[in-house]
Amino acid sequence: MGRTMSFYDLRDAMALPGCPVCRLKANAVRRHLDNLLWESVNDAGVRREIRNARGFCQQHAWQLIEGGSSLGVVIIMHDVMQHVLQLLETAEFQPPAPTLRQRARSALDPSRAAPANAGLLAKLRPQAPCPVCVHAETTERVLISTLVQELLGEDGLLPALRASEGLCLLHLRQALAQTPNAEVFDALVGVQREIWRRLTDQLAELIRKEDYRFRHEARGEEKGASLRALAVLSGPRIITSDAG
Ligand SMILES: [Zn+2]
Ligand SMILES: [Zn+2]
Repeated sequence: MGRTMSFYDLRDAMALPGCPVCRLKANAVRRHLDNLLWESVNDAGVRREIRNARGFCQQHAWQLIEGGSSLGVVIIMHDVMQHVLQLLETAEFQPPAPTLRQRARSALDPSRAAPANAGLLAKLRPQAPCPVCVHAETTERVLISTLVQELLGEDGLLPALRASEGLCLLHLRQALAQTPNAEVFDALVGVQREIWRRLTDQLAELIRKEDYRFRHEARGEEKGASLRALAVLSGPRIITSDAG
């Protein structure tokens, strides 16, 4: 049976700590950022995309300089700043001038009154989403689709998923949204239930051992359970160095 790259990537990631989709998504983001900095920085189309997005989202912007600042970052920032500056240089004050309809509406709901400088605001606003987010979401979609399509059957991903730390809440929701039938649903939800039950028990065990009567007991597999639960509910920790 022909397997895709995503299949092997998922199987390998399931042998490592944390949600496998989160891990592969983070790897894809890192590769994409490196690629941006070292290869696509002079690509006119890529530069336009970044300009339209007014740079990157907060998370990906700071991830750009994780490996230290580079000429690529300088070139990209210069390009976007030049563009944003140009928008300001031709700008003139525009008073809040509501149309008749808006005036009628704002009488009912003052919070909906037209703002001052509406034209400039519209131009300064990102005209496209963060290009790194777009890439991450595409990767995520392919991985989730592979996961639900290739979970069952001979040499499917189910045993690897069962032995893993499972999907995070976000990726379980995405997998449920793409689940094609009741068999896949039962397998997926069954495994997640096992894994989350174990994690919840580990949290209870941590609380129990905080009691002075049990404090002398050695920590077992519950060690780190609160960090694992944080990652399940909120996504993995993004460690950003102070490079600059
Ligand atoms: Zn995840
Ligand atoms: Zn982003």
